[in-house]
Amino acid sequence: MAKKQFKAESKRLLDMMIHSIYTHKEIFLRELISNASDAIDKRYYAAMQKGGEGMDRSDYFIRLTPSETTRTLTITDNGCGMTEKELEEDLGTIAKSGTLAFKQAMDKSEEGKAAPEVDVIGQFGVGFYSAFMVSKNIKVYSRTEDGEGHLWESDGQDGYTVKPFDYPTVGTQIVLTLKDDEEGEDYSQYLREYTLKSLVKKYSDYVRYPIRMMEEKRVPKGEKEEGKPQEYETVMEDAVLNSMVPLWKRSKGEVTEEEYARFYRDNFFDVDDPLTTIRVSVEGAVSYTALLFIPKKAPWDFFTKGYKRGLKLYSNGVMIMDACEDLLPDYFGFVKGLVDSPDLSLNISREMLQHDRQLKAIANNLKKKIQSELKKMLDGDREKYETFYKAFAQSIKFGVYDQYGMNADFLKDLLLFYSAREEKDVTLHEYVAAMKEDQKAIYYAAGDSLGHCLGLPQAELIRDKGYDLLCMTDDVDEFAVRVLASYEEKPFKAATDEDLGLASEEEKKAMEEKAAESKDLLEKLKEDLAGKVKEVKLSDRLTKSVACLNGEGGVSIEMYKVLKAMPNAGELPMEFVLELNPEHPVFQKLATLSDTDRKEYAELIYQQARLMAGLPLDDPAAFSELVCKFM
Ligand code: ADP
Repeated sequence: MAKKQFKAESKRLLDMMIHSIYTHKEIFLRELISNASDAIDKRYYAAMQKGGEGMDRSDYFIRLTPSETTRTLTITDNGCGMTEKELEEDLGTIAKSGTLAFKQAMDKSEEGKAAPEVDVIGQFGVGFYSAFMVSKNIKVYSRTEDGEGHLWESDGQDGYTVKPFDYPTVGTQIVLTLKDDEEGEDYSQYLREYTLKSLVKKYSDYVRYPIRMMEEKRVPKGEKEEGKPQEYETVMEDAVLNSMVPLWKRSKGEVTEEEYARFYRDNFFDVDDPLTTIRVSVEGAVSYTALLFIPKKAPWDFFTKGYKRGLKLYSNGVMIMDACEDLLPDYFGFVKGLVDSPDLSLNISREMLQHDRQLKAIANNLKKKIQSELKKMLDGDREKYETFYKAFAQSIKFGVYDQYGMNADFLKDLLLFYSAREEKDVTLHEYVAAMKEDQKAIYYAAGDSLGHCLGLPQAELIRDKGYDLLCMTDDVDEFAVRVLASYEEKPFKAATDEDLGLASEEEKKAMEEKAAESKDLLEKLKEDLAGKVKEVKLSDRLTKSVACLNGEGGVSIEMYKVLKAMPNAGELPMEFVLELNPEHPVFQKLATLSDTDRKEYAELIYQQARLMAGLPLDDPAAFSELVCKFM
């Protein structure tokens, strides 16, 4: 029979696997066992949905059978099995979670160089392919509940064959013919009882089905005779190698941080330990256990559509869903983990799950728990919280803004913004607590960068008064604070807002008088800048700069930029107001200029105000020419 070729991507991975100098080849066993366990879950779940007749939970097993004579290690399960098509597609292609993540990480490391590869393989679920690290031939016998049996076979790179085979039972049997030992590579160890036992303990102890193996046991032979030493003989005995108790079902004190960390890395495909582990056990109207992890960094695909949000869902130790989205609100989408509840029926369909009251109650509790854990971290371990915030601030801010601020109150105390005065991130509470006595509002500046915020001319007076300024450099920031509107009864005010409420009645009056005096000049400047600005007026918030640019009616230029950059933004009209500093020598000079000169001055002032606002120049060449002329 002609051999079929592996798909191109698979081939590359396979090649890396086979030639890997990787020292943890042993993980192949974990991968095969975990596939077997998933397959049993699937079969059990399907049986329960059909009403649960047929097999009992305790009938399921995974069996390891090493044989020195044939140099094979056989892994047998009575899970769901694979059809011919599945054998082709699942074992002939890489399209699956673990393997894909692995491949992507590899692509990032330079063309599969040995060093990064070494770390990468150990952390990702690399799946079935990893068996090629230790095998020269692999046979997979498999049969599904209502299908015929098949045999899939491959020697590795040169492809595979699939043919009908009368496999007697439902399930899968994988026969690995181990590679020959070579210098520094002891493949024979995978035939030894001791190695297999310790590998199961190390990687697969919490697999929920028994992993069985015939074990040599020394037992007393016959009755002990008077005056003679007891004789022993070696017999084969069936043993269960794993404890089967899932990690989250063991008592809290019994599980070490390292065990949690390894569980997290193995199950959620992260190379790092989690930043924090949260364990929740609830007994009551709805009972459940949850094991949650907050990653240290955002996964590479976190901000893409492909990111799979949600928690694994178990019903009494049997996985019923890989990523249940309904358990987490969007803004906590970075949380990884699982929920196990005996109250959820195995019988439930995935569609019905969405409307399940118990599930809703669990989701609601978890949300509160995550929020309070984060708050605790913020109060107790600021550095750790900052690591968290660096990775996931956007999620929190988006949560504040989303759904018209429905969750703003719930999330506001998790926010941090950069304080111009403290020169570090502060909470809103810290900002308000440090406000000067006469300060009425929380002032902020939005911009593309810290430099832009700190240099914003509109904020000059605010800072001269000794008020702190929060710098908002994320696109979502200003949207979030506008939704919040106030914090601890202090309103938010953008430095660019029309009225900052800083001037006293007298100051206002004085400004009005000045404006009346300069009325003609302001009119002329408006004509000079026709089509560019809607209005030119005097400002009381500038202390150093000559001018600043604002949106008409207090519309924020930053928000305009964000909206404009959105897909399908279309034509967004924006009108500008140029504010001038009447105390500035350049302003004072304006009145003395000829019409032509004033027009050029106006143009220069306007263009540099655009720059300060983070807007592009209308015509860089013309601007440059004008600047040179004045030099
Ligand atoms: P992954 O486990 O990351 O999905 P694998 O390469 O390990 O990738 O396996 C690919 C697919 O092959 C699995 O998702 C599963 O559908 C199928 N499979 C593997 N082993 C078994 C098995 N023992 N029984 C049934 N199906 C299996």
